[in-house]
Amino acid sequence: MSVISNHMPTAELQALDAAHHMHPFTSNEALANKGARVITRADGVYLTDSDGNRILDGMAGLWCVNIGYGRTEMADAAARQMKELPYYNTFFMTTHVPAIALAQEVAKLAPADMNQIFFASSGSEANDTNIRLVRTYWAQKGKPGKSHIISRKNAYHGSSVGSGSLGGMTYMHEQGGMPIPGIHHINQPDWWSEGGDMTPEEFGVACAKELEAKILELGEDKVAAFIAEPVQGAGGVIVPPETYWPEIQRICDEYEILLIADEVICGFGRLGAWFGSEVMGIKPHIMTIAKGLSSGYQPIGGSIVCDEVAEVIGQTEFNHGYTYSGHPVAAAVALENLRIMQEENLIEHVRTAAAPALKAGLETLADHPLVGEVSIKGMMASLALTPHKDSRAKFASERGTIGTICRDRAFANNLVMRHVGDRMVVSPPLIIQQEDIDALVERAGKALDEAYSEVK
Ligand code: PLP
Repeated sequence: MSVISNHMPTAELQALDAAHHMHPFTSNEALANKGARVITRADGVYLTDSDGNRILDGMAGLWCVNIGYGRTEMADAAARQMKELPYYNTFFMTTHVPAIALAQEVAKLAPADMNQIFFASSGSEANDTNIRLVRTYWAQKGKPGKSHIISRKNAYHGSSVGSGSLGGMTYMHEQGGMPIPGIHHINQPDWWSEGGDMTPEEFGVACAKELEAKILELGEDKVAAFIAEPVQGAGGVIVPPETYWPEIQRICDEYEILLIADEVICGFGRLGAWFGSEVMGIKPHIMTIAKGLSSGYQPIGGSIVCDEVAEVIGQTEFNHGYTYSGHPVAAAVALENLRIMQEENLIEHVRTAAAPALKAGLETLADHPLVGEVSIKGMMASLALTPHKDSRAKFASERGTIGTICRDRAFANNLVMRHVGDRMVVSPPLIIQQEDIDALVERAGKALDEAYSEVK
């Protein structure tokens, strides 16, 4: 086997990468022309690349490295578990201690009436599980026709065929025959981009009422569930107006629709609580989890299921599962992550220090000529870029052109700041301290200045 290592020249690694490695959400042509940035190591909130650059990770990987990089306790937990029991499944009446312990710990952190966890290895798998859970629930209740699921345009719930269908990204749907039948999308509560002349409060109610209209159009006896993130993340950090969630909750209650809160990004501290549902005042039947559950150190996700739904599902055999459901090494690492988060009071840190500092810092960029809106909740934020602040206008360009420029300028200034269309997204590790928040804001400001001079 050839030895490929961090010590090889960057260009050689890039060429090999482009030759053999198909990347998610990336064109091979771009890889061949430009070469991917090769990340070689990481510690705290910083990445190091193969050219020795030290880059501030304003995205916590993909919104997931909540406790930061380089925690040796996590490596120790993995090694211990690998030596003791590297793998066993949880099918057919078997279990093991890491899965039991993690399920118990997650149930302790979840709302009081949510005590059962179905494990998966990712958020996508967990949302696929959710499609089957809600349909099985209603079939068990004698209502098999209640099978349709309502989601939102521009939502992201994963990349498998099921979860990608729940998502509302049309550019994903265009490939591979999505969405699958029985999934519907209503508008997202993005007041800044789509609110027109309405006040945010009016717009929040109007968007929520689209759920009611869709339920009435499909028939109450046909709708199983509504799925949404408490705050939409990969859609560009869309913080809903305050009127939105109370109205959604009323509609779900009134029409007996199960509510799935996708907590893959919002969960495990990102909004300053264990779950975003607490912060946004939502009472879900199911919560999707992944990412921050293990801070990305191991792939693990799952569905936290409320007692009533779990009891109904439990009346039959749920014919569903993944080889790695409750994987012992992933579960042990996730448990260690939760121990660290609790011992270091990370949620308190977010609530009282990191989130207020990030908000104060990013709001200093609100006056920048490119910035139309600073959208922020906890440790999730985006800057909506606009050619004309007052009219909330959009750049007349292909998806993400200004965003791509700004993202590249951020990278050149050693900051990872992702773009979603014309929104620049920030979601750093939760452990971040004031000094690095200052550096993040300064580099973001420079990236904006440089992008502005390119497009003005
Ligand atoms: N749900 C949400 C809200 C997400 O942001 C993501 C990923 O970004 C997923 C689900 C899919 O998770 P995964 O990439 O682990 O499959």
